[in-house]
Amino acid sequence: MNLLKKDIIFSNVNKLKGVGKQLSKYLKNKKIEKVKDILLNLPYSETDRSKITSLNKLEIGKIQTIRVIVKKLNFPRVRNLPNKIICENESGKIEIVYFNSREGYLRKIYPVNEWVVISGKIGFFNKKYQMSNPDYVSPLEKEEYVKQVIPKYSLTKGINEKKYRLISDQVINNLPDINEWYEKNFLKKNNFLTWKENIIALHKSKDNQNKLSRSYKRLVFDEIFANLLVLSENRKKIKKNKQNKYFKSIIAKKILERLPFELTKSQKNVLEEINLDLKSNTRMFRIIQGDVGSGKTIVSLLTIANVVENKQQCAFMAPTEILAKQHFHLAKKIFIGTNIKIDLLTGKTETKKRKEIIDNIRNGDLDCIIGTHSLFQKKIDFKNLGLAIIDEQHKFGVKQRSELAKKGGDNCDLLLMSATPIPRTMMMSLYGDMDISKILEKPAKRKKIITLSKPEKKINELWSFIKKQININNQVFWVCPLIKESSYLDYSSAKSKFDTINKKFPGKVGLIHGALNKVEKEKILDSFLKNEISILVSTTVIEVGIDFPNANLIIIENANKFGLAQLHQLRGRVGRGDKQGLCILLFKESLSKNAIKRIKILKESDDGFFIAEEDMRLRGFGDIAGYQQSGSKNFRFADPVTHEDLFSLAEKYIKNININVNESKYAFLLKLFDKAEIINQNID
Ligand code: ADP
Ligand code: MG
Repeated sequence: MNLLKKDIIFSNVNKLKGVGKQLSKYLKNKKIEKVKDILLNLPYSETDRSKITSLNKLEIGKIQTIRVIVKKLNFPRVRNLPNKIICENESGKIEIVYFNSREGYLRKIYPVNEWVVISGKIGFFNKKYQMSNPDYVSPLEKEEYVKQVIPKYSLTKGINEKKYRLISDQVINNLPDINEWYEKNFLKKNNFLTWKENIIALHKSKDNQNKLSRSYKRLVFDEIFANLLVLSENRKKIKKNKQNKYFKSIIAKKILERLPFELTKSQKNVLEEINLDLKSNTRMFRIIQGDVGSGKTIVSLLTIANVVENKQQCAFMAPTEILAKQHFHLAKKIFIGTNIKIDLLTGKTETKKRKEIIDNIRNGDLDCIIGTHSLFQKKIDFKNLGLAIIDEQHKFGVKQRSELAKKGGDNCDLLLMSATPIPRTMMMSLYGDMDISKILEKPAKRKKIITLSKPEKKINELWSFIKKQININNQVFWVCPLIKESSYLDYSSAKSKFDTINKKFPGKVGLIHGALNKVEKEKILDSFLKNEISILVSTTVIEVGIDFPNANLIIIENANKFGLAQLHQLRGRVGRGDKQGLCILLFKESLSKNAIKRIKILKESDDGFFIAEEDMRLRGFGDIAGYQQSGSKNFRFADPVTHEDLFSLAEKYIKNININVNESKYAFLLKLFDKAEIINQNID
């Protein structure tokens, strides 16, 4: 067969021989739609059919290959009895058994007195070796096709090994040569195979079973590199020249003088970085990374003051209504005595007010609009949008970021904020298109949250403690992992917990969980915020970022089901005011060594970045809060823990080369990992 043409690699699988409608459908269930998906569908093991086994050395239950003479075919005339073929050689006898096979077919593949090669699973029945429905039967002249070590793929209904092999062999055995996207020296230095050799090795050797094998590592590197290419392209497109900004910051200075606290050193540094961006003649595209409570909001409000003072508008978007409101009220307070005009726009804003706001945004009467994603509807035209701020954006992927940049327009600076700590390894791969500012320290006055752990058996000791807290007007979060009791999972149920607690503290308890709609959720959060209820029982839906300054106690059930970073985020809900925050972790069973280690880290450290690193080391990347949506989806093969060195290697490499993503060699790589669309979609 001829080598495949390059473009076939990105065509639908039905371009391959023997792949019709039905098979395409089955393949699609395995997420194999294009030919290239076959390349990336790696075997997980292999079946060794390469050796001929004597009939006196067969092993029951194993897949083996035998070479025998067909002696006799036996087709019983009674229904439901299997057809039998008796075979033998110098080392013994064996029966080959078929259920539901046509006589004509069997006579053709088992010619009497001829040698055949058969491969399949060895069974034992009536004291005799037998093989039922073997996988392969072949005349001797074609035995080489059977006698091989055959890669084992996770297959699905409608596709067996033989069928899949017909497809995958067409592809893997006929790969075209591809122009390498790396420099020759780089490949050599890192002991990487060429792309083609690499794919073959991944399918035809045991490399696929070792994530640190050299061919697996090249694949991982390709994936990371493709990801970095996209980010670097996104950055190029966004960080373009903007209208030069003459720059004053008198208002911000006044605001600072009035604040009841001094900015932390980190806050000052970040503000400095932002101000340089505002002044520069390229657009700002920056993310502020800072732990919960590190004081990102005030930094963003000061930035708004600077932009407004220089005659441009700002949009500040929060993920939820309640958070938008909270930012709005804070902004009003902070901007008192200035002439900065701000308003709030959310899904709940009444039609009349909405119209008025939209008009004011258009004619420039409003300087700053705070709201939910409704800020970026098509209907809304800014007169002069100079800055868009997105709070708690960790669910934004690179695609959303580039869309946002487009909406903001060429003259709009972009500032994103996230409280989700990202391990160092991942920083570049997730946020490599942006400049990164970190707030490393928390306001000095803030007391460290005390973290305790307790076995659930001792839950009764808590009630009197909670009662005391409520009596002195404190508020309590109670977190459980699931809404309803499940017979399969030993998770607690927020609902039944609500009933229990409500009996003890009638009328003082609220329940919030993921199944409620947004309006219902906000209503409950609001009544908790207003201190109308004292205890809020919840699943993990407690929104990131909301300030409940009066809540000082959080109790987390089944704490071992959560990741460390998530526990850290949860406990960050309390201790935001002047009161000492306390977090109690409840555990069901006796703890494993690993669990004890994890609690120790939480008790000792208050540093979200450190905790994220440790969490990743102990549980792997997928469990870090908030990444399931954005981060892990970026990678199918790369693992930030296993391949830490490859992430840094890719970072170094991409910094040292000149890239033009439109070169065809990159196009191939990007298409391979489904990244090409993201780049094209960016092109105006
Ligand atoms: P986050 O980074 O989680 O968004 P916020 O901006 O909501 O944090 O700040 C949390 C609380 O800390 C707010 O009540 C804010 O007023 C306060 N705060 C911010 N900066 C300082 C500071 N430098 N000193 C004291 N308190 C501060
Ligand atoms: Mg915040």
